[in-house]
Amino acid sequence: MYKLGVDLGGTKIEAVLLDENLNVMEKKRIPTPQNDYPQILNSISSLILDISENVPDFSLGICTPGAISKKTGLIKNSNTQCLIGRSLKEDLENKLGKKISMENDANCFTMAESTLGVAVDYGLVFGVILGTGVGGGIIIDKKLHSGRINIAGEWGHHTLHRNGNSCYCGKTGCVETYISGPSLENQWTKLTGKSQPLPEILSNIDNEIGKKWKDEFLENFGYGLANVIDILDPDVVVLGGGLSNIDFLYTEGKESVYDKVFSDLVDTPMLQNKLGDSAGVFGACML
Ligand SMILES: [Zn+2]
Repeated sequence: MYKLGVDLGGTKIEAVLLDENLNVMEKKRIPTPQNDYPQILNSISSLILDISENVPDFSLGICTPGAISKKTGLIKNSNTQCLIGRSLKEDLENKLGKKISMENDANCFTMAESTLGVAVDYGLVFGVILGTGVGGGIIIDKKLHSGRINIAGEWGHHTLHRNGNSCYCGKTGCVETYISGPSLENQWTKLTGKSQPLPEILSNIDNEIGKKWKDEFLENFGYGLANVIDILDPDVVVLGGGLSNIDFLYTEGKESVYDKVFSDLVDTPMLQNKLGDSAGVFGACML
């Protein structure tokens, strides 16, 4: 059976069609209508109809920004605001007359890297999204582990510092409030009084303040991931999202994690993703 995957992003909607041997048959992207839920539904369904025109049967997966509440089936915590509180899965199923699988971007990322990317040879894969937010996904032997209440892998909201930075989720001290892109930029502003984007910061850390910023980043990254490894003991950790391009995460970052894991033997590979921005759409195919 063919596999059709759709990645719904804040600015673009991308779709890909794979044949039985997982070859890419077609790929298309269109802009995401802004702040208009009915238009988003229309765009997704016409993209699906367009790309599947000559295909008799296919499975359909969708990668969404934000989580789907196990309690209500509605989208929550999405940065595409008009999706919040909507039953996107049900609405699309009704519109298309077809069952679909739907997962958030961290789960799709981990699925893609586990089945088509850098982690194909590993059993238990912990996928990490480090970008505007911090997320994670768990794949065990190519199957998604969602958990009883659908939050498996959400290490971004572990409490790292009690009474620490406040988080949009209502708690304080979450991992995300220390090592997401915006949090790291905020920390830089606190230390230097300057507001700079992350790439500029990274090219300017060979000095005392830069070292302090980087050391704090490495400590928080280390504790955050070591806590995950202590519980899950994955066969591999794959990093994705904008910050996964930071080289020192694979050297000093890895050392910082290893130092904090509860074992005298730690050799968990920490790898950079292979599929980059395409992970969402390929992961959606493989759901
Ligand atoms: Zn939080």
